[in-house]
Amino acid sequence: MRPESRKPRGGLRYRDLVATPERLALRRRLDAHPRVRLAHLPTPLEPLRRLRERIGGPPIYIKRDDCTGLATGGNKVRKLEFLLGAADADDADHVITFGALQSNHARQTAAACAIRGLACDLILVNRVAWDDPSYETSGNLLLDRLFGATLHRVDDAGEIGELLQRRVAEIEGRGGRVAVIPPGGSNAIGALGYVECALELGEQFAALDHAPSAVWVACSTLGTQAGLVVGLAATAVDSRIVGVDVYSGDAAHQQTALRVLCDDVAKRLGVEAPRADRLIVDSDHLGPGYGIPHEAVFEAIELVASCEGILLDPVYSGKAMAALISHIRSGRCEADRPVVFVHTGGSAGLFAYPQAFLERS
Ligand SMILES: *Cc1c(COP(=O)(O)O)cnc(C)c1O
Repeated sequence: MRPESRKPRGGLRYRDLVATPERLALRRRLDAHPRVRLAHLPTPLEPLRRLRERIGGPPIYIKRDDCTGLATGGNKVRKLEFLLGAADADDADHVITFGALQSNHARQTAAACAIRGLACDLILVNRVAWDDPSYETSGNLLLDRLFGATLHRVDDAGEIGELLQRRVAEIEGRGGRVAVIPPGGSNAIGALGYVECALELGEQFAALDHAPSAVWVACSTLGTQAGLVVGLAATAVDSRIVGVDVYSGDAAHQQTALRVLCDDVAKRLGVEAPRADRLIVDSDHLGPGYGIPHEAVFEAIELVASCEGILLDPVYSGKAMAALISHIRSGRCEADRPVVFVHTGGSAGLFAYPQAFLERS
């Protein structure tokens, strides 16, 4: 085949065909922000045919943000592109961030710092009461060490403030410059990474027969959901975005925090803040608490692994998938419009929970 004959008619690329004026405008506003390239983008949107055969309901698609490419992937990579872009613009040479002992955010930050040649300190709080020796040695913790991060373990979140102050003073005392990244990378800058994802989704949805009725995603520090909500609203995609709360259990509290973050993101981009009915948080699937998987979570992880070959995780994506499966089984989905699951990653966390899976088999 001659190269010319592969071009679509009129020489247009697929991106041009699906580029609406809203999307082009948002793209321009997003591109005005400093950014470093870390992720493999766009991530695919794939059908989960065999899962649908098993549970019924509408077509199910999965947005593979577990395949963002860095250090076993996950949603923090997109955020870090903008967070480290801002750190770079500020001439930082050292990053400090926070998380639970098995934080995926900490692992992805450590890897991103390794690529960028930045020093990285992780302040990790031992907040999850999970009785498996691997929880304190394997999974994300093992990887943090490989990426060369300096780890600080604390048993009480109250110790963080003083430790942070001390480290910043030490680093600045020897002439370094610190960028402090909030837990989960969730501020208005980090959330821009999910405005990028919303732009990708808008293009990918244009290739489907019907626009999805809903997009389901795990939420804790809410930057992921905020970016999606702002990005999809600004590009006139009417799918509902359902955040499955895996962290607080207090939907009203999460909704208020989401409002604040969405307003911040919208302001930064110069677009309208999303309407209140776009801020949807479902706190009914948390179970015993953050980092504690329950029966439906194990079932969801085993089901998706065994019929699709895709790895979810016990803390975030497994819980969100359990919520989506329960919703589909309840028969409350619109029949002809697909649903979309955003796979935010986290599979490295599986290796912190081996006992629970062994006991089930
Ligand atoms: C951090 C994380 C989330 C939650 O994203 P937020 O932006 O903090 O709400 C979901 N899934 C995985 C695997 C994560 O690591």
